[in-house]
Amino acid sequence: MKRDGAVALLRKELGRKENARFGRLYGKRRPVKAATISLVLLACLAAAVILVWSLLHARALELANARIAASNTSLTLATQANSSFNVADTVLVSLVDKIEAEGWSELNVDRLRTLMAKQMAHLPALQGLFVYDDTGRWIANSSGRKFDGRNNSDRAYFQYHKHSRDRGVHIGSPIIGRTSGAWVLPVSRRIEHPNGSFAGVALATIRIDFYRKIYERLDLGPDGEVLMTLNDGTLLLRSPFDARELGRNIASSPVFLQQARQGFATRTSVAEHDGEAHIVSHARIGAYPVGITLLQDQDAVLAGWRHSAMFAGTALLLLIAGLLLLGRRVVRQVNLREQLEGELLSTKAHLETANTALSTMAYIDGLTELFNRRYYELALAREAGRASRNGASLAVLMLDVDFFKKYNDRYGHQAGDSTLKAVAQSIQRGLRRSGDLAARYGGEEFVVILPDTDLAGAREVAETIRVALQSRAIPHADSPLGVVTVSIGMCAAVPASAEGGADLVAQADAALYRAKEAGRNCSAS
Ligand code: GH3
Ligand code: MG
Ligand code: MG
Repeated sequence: MKRDGAVALLRKELGRKENARFGRLYGKRRPVKAATISLVLLACLAAAVILVWSLLHARALELANARIAASNTSLTLATQANSSFNVADTVLVSLVDKIEAEGWSELNVDRLRTLMAKQMAHLPALQGLFVYDDTGRWIANSSGRKFDGRNNSDRAYFQYHKHSRDRGVHIGSPIIGRTSGAWVLPVSRRIEHPNGSFAGVALATIRIDFYRKIYERLDLGPDGEVLMTLNDGTLLLRSPFDARELGRNIASSPVFLQQARQGFATRTSVAEHDGEAHIVSHARIGAYPVGITLLQDQDAVLAGWRHSAMFAGTALLLLIAGLLLLGRRVVRQVNLREQLEGELLSTKAHLETANTALSTMAYIDGLTELFNRRYYELALAREAGRASRNGASLAVLMLDVDFFKKYNDRYGHQAGDSTLKAVAQSIQRGLRRSGDLAARYGGEEFVVILPDTDLAGAREVAETIRVALQSRAIPHADSPLGVVTVSIGMCAAVPASAEGGADLVAQADAALYRAKEAGRNCSAS
């Protein structure tokens, strides 16, 4: 079996201790850099996702609220429009009934005028009430004034009733009233003779201002609009008010088409209008062919939301920037730490090398590379203690080169040193077990410690070494034997204690003396 030399053994022993301690600490290190980068990126991503999600959520909520508000408003306006038409129509129904029941010939026009004036007093939406005969002549009106000679047969509603047998209510395009000079909505009914022929028209006019004042008070944001339309697309009123728009037919406009398609139900939708997204709410209530459309600019509705989105977005960017800066700082610190670690490692390696060298110097003999006297003493105490504890036999060999003084004298001190190395080699090679240990005792004397070895075993090792050296045949002209040889004294026993090693050495030394006496180049016990 190949045995390590003393230096290799010592290095192994020192290295094992150091590496065990370092390995324990090194194993506890964590991959901080990768974890930090992942954590920072994850935090940035999470913050961005949460913000985008909550902004989208808030936007949807804002739009939903605006739609609900628009829907409620359009429903309210439609209800109000319906009831104003209903009021006007109810009056017309009673007028037509009265005229048709009493007949033109018996009709007391003065009483009719008084009745119309009384009704007007309770109906603030109405501009006036009028009755025309079959030629369009003014018969009676609610103002109390007489307008003899006036004729309204040119009006569209008059022509409608004259030529249509429709007995329902008719709502016409906005017109400028001939008595008031103000914009009004004409609501009219046909009056018939008992034979069903055309007898005239009863008219109620609703002041456009009545609606306009209310519509203009609504807060619909910039670009918000209210449209009152007939089912055929005639624009009755538009707020913001523009007289030129009144009576215009918007049947082909996208807003109206959508309104018609949706059957005039109360709906709220986002529609393309004027190239921009709008919140559009349609409402129609009751039997009259009048609908309300509410338009709001979606951008204006979302203005508040956009403001907070910008604020939150800026805050997020700042947060992400902060996190990235922090992350970069941590990574730099980790890099620095790793650099320091690397430097520490190399310093450690240097120290270890230096340490091993120092330990080697402290325990190894420089010339022969066997253990030195100091290490031998520690090893002897250790092995003697172990042997005494185990009740095992411990053997000690003492070796002394024969006639070495003469060798030095003849061949010189340097040659003497080389020979000492050769002797050491022969001793080292003669050891077989891993626990066997050879040391330079001093000068040209060596000592060998053989744990768990009895005298017979010790003799075997001693002879192996002696014969091996002799067969190297290093010339020694001043020795009677002609070559360099060694004398060996040996001893083996179970030491009484750790201190018992010294006795063994003394006995081995005595045996060496005997080997010298016996003529050298031999072993004695
Ligand atoms: P013996 O056979 O009785 O042992 O005779 P010897 O000459 O070996 O006896 P002695 O112990 O008196 O001589 C030892 C000599 O070993 C003395 C010294 O010149 C030589 N010596 C001791 N240490 C060294 C060394 O490190 N190098 C060399 N070259 N010579 C050494
Ligand atoms: Mg000697
Ligand atoms: Mg000697």
